[in-house]
Amino acid sequence: MSISFSHTFANELDGFYKACSPEKCTSPRLLQVNAALADELGLDHKLLHGEVGASMFSGNALPDDSNPIAQVYAGHQFGMFTPQLGDGRALLIGEVVDRNGDRRDIQLKGSGRTPYSRGGDGKSALGPVLREYLVSEAMHQFGIATTRALAAVGTEDWVAREALKPRAVLTRVSASHIRVGSFEFFAARGEWAQVKRLADYAIDRHFPHIRDSGDAYLDFFKSVMQKQAKLIADWMSVGFVHGVMNTDNMTISGETIDYGPCAFMDRYVPSTVFSSIDEHGRYAYENQPKIGQWNLAQLAKALIPLYQEDQEVVIQRFVDELDTFNDIYESFWLENMRAKLGLINESEGDLDLVNELLRLMHQGDADFTLTFRSLANVRLNDEIQFKSQFNNSINLDDWSSRWLKRVLVDGVSADQCILNMNAVNPLYIPRNHKIEEALDAAVNDNDFELFRSMLNVVSEPYFFRPGFDKYAEPSLSNAEPYVTFCGT
Ligand code: AMP
Ligand code: MG
Repeated sequence: MSISFSHTFANELDGFYKACSPEKCTSPRLLQVNAALADELGLDHKLLHGEVGASMFSGNALPDDSNPIAQVYAGHQFGMFTPQLGDGRALLIGEVVDRNGDRRDIQLKGSGRTPYSRGGDGKSALGPVLREYLVSEAMHQFGIATTRALAAVGTEDWVAREALKPRAVLTRVSASHIRVGSFEFFAARGEWAQVKRLADYAIDRHFPHIRDSGDAYLDFFKSVMQKQAKLIADWMSVGFVHGVMNTDNMTISGETIDYGPCAFMDRYVPSTVFSSIDEHGRYAYENQPKIGQWNLAQLAKALIPLYQEDQEVVIQRFVDELDTFNDIYESFWLENMRAKLGLINESEGDLDLVNELLRLMHQGDADFTLTFRSLANVRLNDEIQFKSQFNNSINLDDWSSRWLKRVLVDGVSADQCILNMNAVNPLYIPRNHKIEEALDAAVNDNDFELFRSMLNVVSEPYFFRPGFDKYAEPSLSNAEPYVTFCGT
Protein backbone atom coordinates (compact mmCIF):
# COMPACT_ATOMS: atom_id res chain seq x y z
CA MET A 1 0.00 0.00 0.00
CA SER A 2 1.23 3.52 -0.66
CA ILE A 3 0.07 6.85 0.75
CA SER A 4 1.43 9.41 -1.76
CA PHE A 5 4.06 10.38 0.71
CA SER A 6 6.62 13.02 -0.08
CA HIS A 7 9.85 13.56 1.81
CA THR A 8 10.94 17.17 1.55
CA PHE A 9 12.70 17.16 4.94
CA ALA A 10 14.66 14.01 4.11
CA ASN A 11 15.44 15.15 0.58
CA GLU A 12 16.48 18.71 1.40
CA LEU A 13 18.10 18.36 4.79
CA ASP A 14 20.73 15.69 4.59
CA GLY A 15 22.62 15.67 7.90
CA PHE A 16 19.56 16.55 9.97
CA TYR A 17 18.42 12.99 10.58
CA LYS A 18 19.34 9.33 10.38
CA ALA A 19 17.41 6.69 8.46
CA CYS A 20 16.00 4.07 10.78
CA SER A 21 13.43 1.28 10.65
CA PRO A 22 10.72 0.65 13.23
CA GLU A 23 11.02 -2.32 15.59
CA LYS A 24 8.37 -4.95 15.00
CA CYS A 25 5.45 -5.39 17.41
CA THR A 26 3.67 -8.58 18.38
CA SER A 27 0.02 -8.90 17.29
CA PRO A 28 -0.75 -5.22 16.73
CA ARG A 29 -4.40 -4.25 16.88
CA LEU A 30 -5.95 -0.99 15.95
CA LEU A 31 -7.46 0.71 18.98
CA GLN A 32 -8.55 3.94 17.38
CA VAL A 33 -8.36 5.70 14.02
CA ASN A 34 -9.15 9.37 13.62
CA ALA A 35 -11.53 9.25 10.65
CA ALA A 36 -11.98 13.03 10.44
CA LEU A 37 -8.25 13.61 10.40
CA ALA A 38 -7.73 10.83 7.86
CA ASP A 39 -10.24 12.58 5.59
CA GLU A 40 -8.49 15.90 6.08
CA LEU A 41 -5.25 14.23 5.02
CA GLY A 42 -6.92 12.77 1.95
CA LEU A 43 -6.52 9.20 3.25
CA ASP A 44 -9.33 6.74 2.81
CA HIS A 45 -10.00 5.85 6.43
CA LYS A 46 -11.91 2.73 5.45
CA LEU A 47 -8.65 1.34 4.11
CA LEU A 48 -6.93 2.15 7.37
CA HIS A 49 -9.12 -0.10 9.50
CA GLY A 50 -8.46 -3.69 10.42
CA GLU A 51 -5.21 -5.47 9.80
CA VAL A 52 -3.93 -3.06 7.18
CA GLY A 53 -4.18 -0.19 9.66
CA ALA A 54 -2.79 -2.24 12.51
CA SER A 55 0.26 -3.28 10.48
CA MET A 56 0.85 0.16 9.13
CA PHE A 57 0.37 2.19 12.30
CA SER A 58 2.43 -0.24 14.36
CA GLY A 59 5.32 0.07 11.94
CA ASN A 60 5.19 -3.66 11.10
CA ALA A 61 4.33 -3.00 7.44
CA LEU A 62 4.96 0.59 6.47
CA PRO A 63 3.45 1.96 3.26
CA ASP A 64 5.68 1.29 0.25
CA ASP A 65 6.56 4.93 -0.21
CA SER A 66 7.66 5.53 3.42
CA ASN A 67 11.14 6.74 4.24
CA PRO A 68 11.44 6.45 8.02
CA ILE A 69 13.89 8.85 9.64
CA ALA A 70 14.76 10.01 13.15
CA GLN A 71 15.39 13.76 13.33
CA VAL A 72 18.18 15.24 15.39
CA TYR A 73 17.72 18.15 17.80
CA ALA A 74 19.13 19.55 21.01
CA GLY A 75 17.30 21.36 23.76
CA HIS A 76 17.23 23.32 26.97
CA GLN A 77 15.58 21.00 29.46
CA PHE A 78 14.51 22.84 32.62
CA GLY A 79 16.98 25.55 31.65
CA MET A 80 19.97 23.24 31.15
CA PHE A 81 21.34 22.67 27.68
CA THR A 82 21.59 19.13 26.33
CA PRO A 83 23.55 19.27 23.06
CA GLN A 84 22.00 16.17 21.58
CA LEU A 85 18.52 14.78 21.97
CA GLY A 86 16.66 13.81 18.79
CA ASP A 87 13.82 11.42 18.05
CA GLY A 88 14.58 8.69 20.53
CA ARG A 89 11.24 6.98 20.23
CA ALA A 90 9.70 8.42 17.09
CA LEU A 91 10.12 8.10 13.33
CA LEU A 92 8.94 10.45 10.65
CA ILE A 93 7.62 8.11 7.96
CA GLY A 94 6.55 10.65 5.38
CA GLU A 95 4.76 13.89 4.58
CA VAL A 96 1.37 14.37 2.96
CA VAL A 97 -0.20 17.49 1.51
CA ASP A 98 -3.65 17.71 3.06
CA ARG A 99 -6.92 18.87 1.50
CA ASN A 100 -6.09 22.48 2.41
CA GLY A 101 -2.77 22.27 0.62
CA ASP A 102 -0.80 22.18 3.87
CA ARG A 103 2.12 19.82 4.25
CA ARG A 104 1.84 17.54 7.29
CA ASP A 105 4.30 15.10 8.86
CA ILE A 106 3.18 11.61 9.78
CA GLN A 107 5.21 10.17 12.59
CA LEU A 108 5.14 6.95 14.56
CA LYS A 109 5.74 7.49 18.25
CA GLY A 110 6.91 4.53 20.29
CA SER A 111 8.19 2.61 17.28
CA GLY A 112 11.41 1.39 18.89
CA ARG A 113 15.01 2.43 19.30
CA THR A 114 16.67 4.96 16.99
CA PRO A 115 20.24 6.31 16.82
CA TYR A 116 19.05 9.00 19.28
CA SER A 117 17.52 6.74 21.90
CA ARG A 118 20.44 6.99 24.33
CA GLY A 119 19.51 4.69 27.24
CA GLY A 120 15.80 4.52 26.36
CA ASP A 121 13.89 1.66 24.79
CA GLY A 122 12.29 3.83 22.10
CA LYS A 123 8.88 2.52 23.02
CA SER A 124 5.64 3.90 24.44
CA ALA A 125 3.32 2.48 27.02
CA LEU A 126 -0.40 2.23 26.31
CA GLY A 127 -1.49 4.73 28.98
CA PRO A 128 0.51 7.71 27.66
CA VAL A 129 -0.50 6.88 24.07
CA LEU A 130 -4.20 7.03 24.95
CA ARG A 131 -3.62 10.13 27.06
CA GLU A 132 -1.97 11.95 24.16
CA TYR A 133 -4.81 10.87 21.89
CA LEU A 134 -7.47 12.25 24.24
CA VAL A 135 -5.77 15.48 25.21
CA SER A 136 -4.53 16.43 21.76
CA GLU A 137 -7.98 15.78 20.30
CA ALA A 138 -9.56 17.97 22.99
CA MET A 139 -7.06 20.72 22.21
CA HIS A 140 -7.93 20.52 18.53
CA GLN A 141 -11.62 20.80 19.32
CA PHE A 142 -10.90 23.89 21.43
CA GLY A 143 -9.41 25.40 18.29
CA ILE A 144 -5.90 25.33 19.74
CA ALA A 145 -3.02 24.61 17.38
CA THR A 146 -1.77 21.12 18.07
CA THR A 147 -0.22 17.97 16.72
CA ARG A 148 -2.94 15.36 16.33
CA ALA A 149 -3.40 11.66 16.77
CA LEU A 150 -4.21 9.71 13.63
CA ALA A 151 -4.18 6.26 15.18
CA ALA A 152 -3.41 4.27 18.31
CA VAL A 153 -2.30 0.67 18.08
CA GLY A 154 -2.09 -1.81 20.96
CA THR A 155 0.31 -4.75 21.00
CA GLU A 156 0.97 -7.89 22.98
CA ASP A 157 4.42 -6.64 23.93
CA TRP A 158 5.37 -5.15 27.26
CA VAL A 159 7.54 -2.19 28.18
CA ALA A 160 9.40 -1.80 31.43
CA ARG A 161 8.36 1.33 33.27
CA GLU A 162 7.76 1.55 37.05
CA ALA A 163 6.11 -1.81 36.32
CA LEU A 164 5.64 -3.76 33.11
CA LYS A 165 3.06 -2.00 30.92
CA PRO A 166 1.43 -2.94 27.63
CA ARG A 167 3.23 -1.43 24.66
CA ALA A 168 1.40 0.79 22.16
CA VAL A 169 2.25 3.00 19.19
CA LEU A 170 0.75 6.39 18.42
CA THR A 171 0.65 7.91 14.95
CA ARG A 172 1.11 11.64 15.28
CA VAL A 173 0.42 14.25 12.63
CA SER A 174 2.01 17.67 12.73
CA ALA A 175 2.62 20.71 10.55
CA SER A 176 6.27 19.75 10.97
CA HIS A 177 8.46 18.50 13.76
CA ILE A 178 10.96 21.35 13.58
CA ARG A 179 11.61 22.66 17.06
CA VAL A 180 13.57 25.49 18.65
CA GLY A 181 15.92 22.70 19.69
CA SER A 182 16.48 21.72 16.04
CA PHE A 183 18.20 25.09 15.52
CA GLU A 184 20.06 24.87 18.81
CA PHE A 185 21.63 21.57 17.79
CA PHE A 186 23.56 23.08 14.87
CA ALA A 187 24.11 26.45 16.55
CA ALA A 188 25.80 24.78 19.53
CA ARG A 189 28.21 23.09 17.11
CA GLY A 190 28.88 26.36 15.26
CA GLU A 191 27.46 24.82 12.07
CA TRP A 192 25.97 28.03 10.74
CA ALA A 193 25.49 26.80 7.19
CA GLN A 194 23.23 24.08 8.62
CA VAL A 195 21.32 26.58 10.76
CA LYS A 196 20.78 28.63 7.61
CA ARG A 197 19.57 25.59 5.63
CA LEU A 198 17.11 24.71 8.36
CA ALA A 199 15.87 28.30 8.65
CA ASP A 200 15.40 28.51 4.88
CA TYR A 201 13.52 25.22 4.86
CA ALA A 202 11.32 26.28 7.81
CA ILE A 203 10.56 29.62 6.14
CA ASP A 204 9.60 27.91 2.87
CA ARG A 205 7.44 25.42 4.66
CA HIS A 206 5.74 27.57 7.29
CA PHE A 207 6.10 31.22 6.35
CA PRO A 208 6.68 31.37 2.56
CA HIS A 209 5.44 34.97 2.42
CA ILE A 210 8.57 36.21 4.22
CA ARG A 211 11.06 34.46 1.95
CA ASP A 212 11.88 37.63 0.07
CA SER A 213 11.11 40.10 2.81
CA GLY A 214 14.61 41.57 2.87
CA ASP A 215 15.20 40.50 6.47
CA ALA A 216 13.90 36.95 6.37
CA TYR A 217 15.54 35.59 9.55
CA LEU A 218 14.31 38.40 11.76
CA ASP A 219 10.88 38.08 10.16
CA PHE A 220 11.04 34.35 10.72
CA PHE A 221 11.78 35.00 14.36
CA LYS A 222 8.87 37.45 14.59
CA SER A 223 6.53 34.95 12.95
CA VAL A 224 7.48 32.18 15.36
CA MET A 225 7.03 34.62 18.21
CA GLN A 226 3.50 35.51 17.03
CA LYS A 227 2.58 31.83 16.77
CA GLN A 228 3.92 31.01 20.21
CA ALA A 229 2.33 34.06 21.86
CA LYS A 230 -1.03 33.04 20.40
CA LEU A 231 -0.54 29.40 21.36
CA ILE A 232 0.31 30.14 24.97
CA ALA A 233 -2.57 32.64 25.25
CA ASP A 234 -4.84 29.84 24.02
CA TRP A 235 -3.46 27.38 26.57
CA MET A 236 -4.03 29.92 29.33
CA SER A 237 -7.65 30.44 28.35
CA VAL A 238 -8.53 26.77 28.89
CA GLY A 239 -6.42 26.26 32.02
CA PHE A 240 -3.90 24.04 30.23
CA VAL A 241 -0.52 23.39 31.83
CA HIS A 242 1.91 21.97 29.26
CA GLY A 243 4.32 20.87 31.94
CA VAL A 244 7.51 20.38 29.94
CA MET A 245 8.15 23.52 27.93
CA ASN A 246 11.73 22.59 27.11
CA THR A 247 13.03 24.15 23.89
CA ASP A 248 12.92 20.73 22.22
CA ASN A 249 9.20 20.70 22.90
CA MET A 250 8.50 24.08 21.27
CA THR A 251 7.61 23.92 17.60
CA ILE A 252 8.39 26.45 14.91
CA SER A 253 4.91 25.93 13.45
CA GLY A 254 3.24 27.03 16.69
CA GLU A 255 1.56 23.70 17.38
CA THR A 256 1.36 22.21 20.85
CA ILE A 257 3.67 19.21 20.94
CA ASP A 258 4.63 16.60 23.52
CA TYR A 259 1.69 15.56 25.63
CA GLY A 260 3.74 14.06 28.41
CA PRO A 261 3.01 15.59 31.78
CA CYS A 262 0.39 18.12 30.66
CA ALA A 263 -2.97 18.51 32.41
CA PHE A 264 -5.87 20.91 32.81
CA MET A 265 -6.46 22.78 36.04
CA ASP A 266 -9.66 22.20 37.95
CA ARG A 267 -9.60 24.95 40.59
CA TYR A 268 -7.94 28.14 39.47
CA VAL A 269 -4.57 28.31 41.15
CA PRO A 270 -2.04 30.23 39.04
CA SER A 271 0.95 28.39 40.52
CA THR A 272 -0.43 24.98 39.46
CA VAL A 273 2.18 22.37 38.54
CA PHE A 274 1.34 18.75 37.76
CA SER A 275 4.64 17.30 36.63
CA SER A 276 6.44 15.14 39.17
CA ILE A 277 9.84 16.44 38.06
CA ASP A 278 9.00 20.17 38.00
CA GLU A 279 10.13 20.69 41.57
CA HIS A 280 10.59 24.44 41.35
CA GLY A 281 7.50 25.20 39.32
CA ARG A 282 9.47 26.41 36.31
CA TYR A 283 6.62 25.33 34.03
CA ALA A 284 3.74 26.31 36.33
CA TYR A 285 0.55 27.60 34.68
CA GLU A 286 1.34 31.24 35.40
CA ASN A 287 4.94 30.96 34.16
CA GLN A 288 4.10 29.71 30.68
CA PRO A 289 4.23 33.09 28.88
CA LYS A 290 7.55 33.95 30.52
CA ILE A 291 9.01 30.57 29.58
CA GLY A 292 7.74 30.99 26.03
CA GLN A 293 9.73 34.19 25.82
CA TRP A 294 12.80 32.54 27.36
CA ASN A 295 12.63 29.76 24.78
CA LEU A 296 12.32 32.30 21.99
CA ALA A 297 15.51 33.94 23.26
CA GLN A 298 17.24 30.61 22.62
CA LEU A 299 15.92 30.64 19.06
CA ALA A 300 17.20 34.20 18.63
CA LYS A 301 20.66 33.12 19.80
CA ALA A 302 20.73 30.46 17.09
CA LEU A 303 19.68 32.89 14.34
CA ILE A 304 21.73 35.99 15.15
CA PRO A 305 25.04 34.58 13.81
CA LEU A 306 23.42 34.13 10.38
CA TYR A 307 23.95 37.86 9.91
CA GLN A 308 27.31 39.14 8.65
CA GLU A 309 26.84 42.58 10.21
CA ASP A 310 28.19 43.79 13.55
CA GLN A 311 26.75 41.24 16.01
CA GLU A 312 25.98 43.84 18.67
CA VAL A 313 23.69 45.63 16.25
CA VAL A 314 21.94 42.41 15.25
CA ILE A 315 21.56 41.30 18.85
CA GLN A 316 19.86 44.60 19.63
CA ARG A 317 17.41 44.12 16.76
CA PHE A 318 16.42 40.68 18.05
CA VAL A 319 16.24 41.89 21.65
CA ASP A 320 13.96 44.74 20.60
CA GLU A 321 11.65 42.22 18.95
CA LEU A 322 11.78 39.85 21.89
CA ASP A 323 10.80 42.73 24.15
CA THR A 324 7.50 42.99 22.30
CA PHE A 325 6.55 39.43 23.23
CA ASN A 326 4.66 40.46 26.36
CA ASP A 327 2.49 42.97 24.53
CA ILE A 328 1.74 40.51 21.74
CA TYR A 329 0.92 37.78 24.24
CA GLU A 330 -1.24 40.11 26.37
CA SER A 331 -3.25 41.23 23.43
CA PHE A 332 -3.96 37.63 22.29
CA TRP A 333 -4.78 36.72 25.87
CA LEU A 334 -7.12 39.66 26.38
CA GLU A 335 -8.85 38.88 23.10
CA ASN A 336 -9.49 35.34 24.38
CA MET A 337 -10.65 36.53 27.77
CA ARG A 338 -12.97 39.11 26.24
CA ALA A 339 -14.60 36.34 24.24
CA LYS A 340 -14.88 34.16 27.35
CA LEU A 341 -16.67 37.02 29.09
CA GLY A 342 -18.98 37.54 26.12
CA LEU A 343 -17.55 40.98 25.34
CA ILE A 344 -17.61 42.06 21.72
CA ASN A 345 -16.15 45.53 21.51
CA GLU A 346 -13.00 46.66 23.24
CA SER A 347 -13.44 48.88 26.24
CA GLU A 348 -10.87 50.37 28.57
CA GLY A 349 -11.93 48.66 31.77
CA ASP A 350 -11.95 45.13 30.27
CA LEU A 351 -8.52 44.09 31.50
CA ASP A 352 -9.41 45.13 35.00
CA LEU A 353 -12.74 43.29 34.80
CA VAL A 354 -10.98 40.08 33.73
CA ASN A 355 -8.25 40.36 36.35
CA GLU A 356 -10.76 41.00 39.10
CA LEU A 357 -12.69 37.87 38.14
CA LEU A 358 -9.49 35.82 38.15
CA ARG A 359 -8.62 37.23 41.57
CA LEU A 360 -12.04 36.23 42.91
CA MET A 361 -11.72 32.79 41.33
CA HIS A 362 -8.36 32.27 43.01
CA GLN A 363 -9.64 33.51 46.32
CA GLY A 364 -12.82 31.44 46.04
CA ASP A 365 -11.11 28.22 44.83
CA ALA A 366 -13.36 28.31 41.78
CA ASP A 367 -13.27 25.70 39.04
CA PHE A 368 -11.66 27.36 36.01
CA THR A 369 -13.80 25.72 33.34
CA LEU A 370 -17.19 25.79 35.06
CA THR A 371 -16.85 29.37 36.26
CA PHE A 372 -16.59 30.65 32.70
CA ARG A 373 -19.18 28.19 31.46
CA SER A 374 -21.77 29.20 34.05
CA LEU A 375 -21.17 32.93 33.70
CA ALA A 376 -23.40 33.02 30.61
CA ASN A 377 -26.41 32.19 32.80
CA VAL A 378 -25.84 35.35 34.79
CA ARG A 379 -26.86 37.22 31.65
CA LEU A 380 -30.38 35.89 32.37
CA ASN A 381 -30.00 36.73 36.05
CA ASP A 382 -29.56 33.09 36.91
CA GLU A 383 -26.57 33.23 39.21
CA ILE A 384 -26.90 29.97 41.09
CA GLN A 385 -24.46 27.86 39.09
CA PHE A 386 -21.93 30.65 38.73
CA LYS A 387 -21.94 31.47 42.43
CA SER A 388 -21.74 27.83 43.43
CA GLN A 389 -18.27 27.65 41.87
CA PHE A 390 -16.88 29.89 44.60
CA ASN A 391 -16.42 28.84 48.17
CA ASN A 392 -16.14 32.46 49.15
CA SER A 393 -18.51 34.99 47.65
CA ILE A 394 -16.92 38.21 48.93
CA ASN A 395 -17.28 40.90 46.23
CA LEU A 396 -18.88 38.45 43.82
CA ASP A 397 -22.14 40.41 43.54
CA ASP A 398 -20.19 43.60 42.84
CA TRP A 399 -18.32 41.84 40.10
CA SER A 400 -21.34 40.26 38.44
CA SER A 401 -23.32 43.48 38.39
CA ARG A 402 -20.28 45.22 36.91
CA TRP A 403 -20.05 42.49 34.27
CA LEU A 404 -23.76 42.68 33.46
CA LYS A 405 -23.54 46.42 32.97
CA ARG A 406 -20.50 46.02 30.74
CA VAL A 407 -21.96 43.24 28.64
CA LEU A 408 -25.08 45.27 27.94
CA VAL A 409 -22.98 48.05 26.41
CA ASP A 410 -22.23 45.85 23.39
CA GLY A 411 -25.94 45.72 22.57
CA VAL A 412 -26.05 41.98 21.90
CA SER A 413 -29.22 40.08 22.75
CA ALA A 414 -29.09 37.75 25.75
CA ASP A 415 -29.59 34.69 23.55
CA GLN A 416 -26.79 35.68 21.23
CA CYS A 417 -24.51 36.53 24.12
CA ILE A 418 -25.07 33.10 25.65
CA LEU A 419 -24.48 31.41 22.30
CA ASN A 420 -21.26 33.36 21.86
CA MET A 421 -20.03 32.47 25.31
CA ASN A 422 -20.93 28.81 25.10
CA ALA A 423 -19.02 28.58 21.83
CA VAL A 424 -15.76 29.53 23.53
CA ASN A 425 -16.19 28.25 27.09
CA PRO A 426 -16.06 24.46 27.00
CA LEU A 427 -18.34 22.48 29.25
CA TYR A 428 -16.19 19.37 29.00
CA ILE A 429 -12.43 19.25 29.30
CA PRO A 430 -10.39 16.09 29.74
CA ARG A 431 -10.66 16.08 33.53
CA ASN A 432 -7.68 14.43 35.17
CA HIS A 433 -9.61 11.93 37.24
CA LYS A 434 -11.69 10.91 34.22
CA ILE A 435 -8.56 10.42 32.11
CA GLU A 436 -7.12 8.23 34.85
CA GLU A 437 -10.30 6.15 35.02
CA ALA A 438 -10.29 5.62 31.26
CA LEU A 439 -6.58 4.75 31.15
CA ASP A 440 -6.84 2.48 34.12
CA ALA A 441 -9.63 0.44 32.52
CA ALA A 442 -7.72 0.23 29.23
CA VAL A 443 -4.35 -0.69 30.71
CA ASN A 444 -5.44 -2.98 33.52
CA ASP A 445 -8.65 -4.51 32.18
CA ASN A 446 -8.17 -4.21 28.44
CA ASP A 447 -11.45 -2.29 28.44
CA PHE A 448 -11.59 0.68 26.06
CA GLU A 449 -15.17 1.74 26.60
CA LEU A 450 -14.35 4.61 28.94
CA PHE A 451 -11.60 5.80 26.61
CA ARG A 452 -14.05 5.89 23.68
CA SER A 453 -16.73 7.52 25.74
CA MET A 454 -14.31 10.23 26.87
CA LEU A 455 -13.05 10.73 23.33
CA ASN A 456 -16.65 11.18 22.28
CA VAL A 457 -17.19 13.82 25.00
CA VAL A 458 -14.07 15.85 24.25
CA SER A 459 -14.84 15.69 20.54
CA GLU A 460 -17.75 18.03 21.18
CA PRO A 461 -16.69 19.96 24.24
CA TYR A 462 -19.08 22.89 23.92
CA PHE A 463 -22.41 21.10 23.67
CA PHE A 464 -24.32 19.88 26.66
CA ARG A 465 -25.22 16.25 26.35
CA PRO A 466 -27.54 14.50 28.75
CA GLY A 467 -25.96 11.61 30.61
CA PHE A 468 -22.45 13.02 30.50
CA ASP A 469 -22.64 15.15 33.66
CA LYS A 470 -19.77 13.31 35.32
CA TYR A 471 -17.42 14.40 32.58
CA ALA A 472 -18.09 18.04 33.40
CA GLU A 473 -17.34 17.77 37.08
CA PRO A 474 -13.98 18.47 38.70
CA SER A 475 -12.41 15.94 41.02
CA LEU A 476 -13.48 16.08 44.65
CA SER A 477 -11.88 18.97 46.48
CA ASN A 478 -10.33 16.58 49.00
CA ALA A 479 -8.74 14.43 46.28
CA GLU A 480 -4.98 13.97 46.35
CA PRO A 481 -3.10 16.53 44.24
CA TYR A 482 -2.83 15.26 40.68
CA VAL A 483 0.67 14.29 39.61
CA THR A 484 1.78 13.61 36.04
CA PHE A 485 4.87 11.97 34.59
CA CYS A 486 6.85 12.55 31.42
CA GLY A 487 4.92 10.04 29.36
CA THR A 488 7.06 7.45 27.70
P1 AMP B 1 10.50 14.41 26.16
O1 AMP B 1 10.75 14.65 27.61
O2 AMP B 1 9.35 13.50 25.92
O3 AMP B 1 10.43 15.66 25.37
O4 AMP B 1 11.77 13.58 25.63
C1 AMP B 1 13.07 14.08 25.74
C2 AMP B 1 14.02 13.22 24.95
O5 AMP B 1 14.05 11.88 25.45
C3 AMP B 1 13.70 13.09 23.47
O6 AMP B 1 14.92 13.09 22.77
C4 AMP B 1 13.01 11.77 23.38
O7 AMP B 1 13.12 11.19 22.09
C5 AMP B 1 13.78 10.96 24.42
N1 AMP B 1 12.97 9.86 24.93
C6 AMP B 1 11.88 9.93 25.71
N2 AMP B 1 11.41 8.70 25.99
C7 AMP B 1 12.21 7.81 25.37
C8 AMP B 1 12.25 6.39 25.28
N3 AMP B 1 11.34 5.61 25.86
N4 AMP B 1 13.26 5.84 24.56
C9 AMP B 1 14.18 6.60 23.95
N5 AMP B 1 14.19 7.95 24.00
C10 AMP B 1 13.23 8.55 24.70
MG1 MG C 1 9.76 15.93 23.48
